[in-house]
Amino acid sequence: MLPRVILHLDMNSYFASVEQQANPHLRGRPVGVVATMSPNGCIIASSTEAKAKGIKTGVRVREARAIDPAIILIPNDAAKYRTVTAGIMRILKSYTEDIELYSIDEAFLNLTGFVKTQAEAAAIGDEIRRRILDDVGEWLRCSIGIAPTRWLAKFGSDVAPKGQTLVLDQSNLAVHLDPRTLTDAWGIAHRLEQRLNLLNIYTLGHLRRAPVANLMTVFGIMGYELWANVNGIEFATVQSAGQPKSIGHSHVFAKRATSLDYPKAILAKLCEKAGRRLRHHQLEAHGLWLGFGLPDWAQARYGQSGGGGAETFSAPLIDTRDIFVRAWRLFMHDLPPGAIPNYLAMTLFSLKPHVDQLELWPRLKHQDAPALAAALDLLNDAFGDFTVTRGTFWGLTERDVPDRIGFRKTAGVDDAGQWTVER
Ligand SMILES: [Mg+2]
Repeated sequence: MLPRVILHLDMNSYFASVEQQANPHLRGRPVGVVATMSPNGCIIASSTEAKAKGIKTGVRVREARAIDPAIILIPNDAAKYRTVTAGIMRILKSYTEDIELYSIDEAFLNLTGFVKTQAEAAAIGDEIRRRILDDVGEWLRCSIGIAPTRWLAKFGSDVAPKGQTLVLDQSNLAVHLDPRTLTDAWGIAHRLEQRLNLLNIYTLGHLRRAPVANLMTVFGIMGYELWANVNGIEFATVQSAGQPKSIGHSHVFAKRATSLDYPKAILAKLCEKAGRRLRHHQLEAHGLWLGFGLPDWAQARYGQSGGGGAETFSAPLIDTRDIFVRAWRLFMHDLPPGAIPNYLAMTLFSLKPHVDQLELWPRLKHQDAPALAAALDLLNDAFGDFTVTRGTFWGLTERDVPDRIGFRKTAGVDDAGQWTVER
């Protein structure tokens, strides 16, 4: 497999720089672009000169004037910024079609297959920077991050000195991540920081070295994502409008299980519920995460609070049986011998629209799987969930798997005691 190379470009002080580009008299002076000119209006972008005085995004017009009476305030001009962005995009598109315009001043370029090394990607970054200065505007600066994952590339451009490039890979994660505070990381805000602090995690280095099983026990799939991000492991999911990014269910056992039969039946039911939602949205999954928690006695004996793991697949997961087989394998792989869990969670991720092409179905002996799954879903839609179900579910009642809010609320029981599924 080709090494992945992602380049993230972030324009610096974008709206204010575009204004300074358009009007040379503004260059070198503190400029604030505002939503409205009223005293309570907010600065939505400030120039480097204004930032140096402490006038940041979010500061009110009144406060900005108090900090520096010389501040030049300019009403925002969205059309102007879009035009400049279009000019930058034209340059980016000459390198790859695989571009994600993340916001008006940020884009991800997937250079995998276009360059062999990160050094080559850095050279492309320099060239892009030069072309923006030459062709779009000499006052426009950008920071660039280059890394094997999308998250790290964005982190790289965030922490790179303004106007420069930072290349991140496994060899320098410790240097660039470990000393930083949690909120320096893309996606970690104050509340999540507090929850991580409770686990004695205060820096990105602590997070990088935290046992992933502990993180998953506390945060579910997000725990794996946090850990994967700071360790340079790809966890991006494909997301289209209105579609879930992941589908997950979890269950805390109401009774103490004495063998693995009960967890097995619970897991089968969780997989069936996730599989039905997957098919309802006409999606296929290319990733599966499984987590389990252990009761106190097992924690004392095995020295761990839980475990689990994640796996990604090139072949699509659609059918409940396939989901269950893989989930069970992940479970057995990480379960200490003799331990019996009291909590199970599973999540399907890397979801993509499922295009039904039977002739491309990778496993011919399961040619009938999508049709069979669709037929089962139809029956269950008509007659209630679990009307037609798998042998493994035998002996379980709805009470065994009440629909708890897993990672995303989807279903419940209505006033009349009927099983309802969000559609
Ligand atoms: Mg920016």
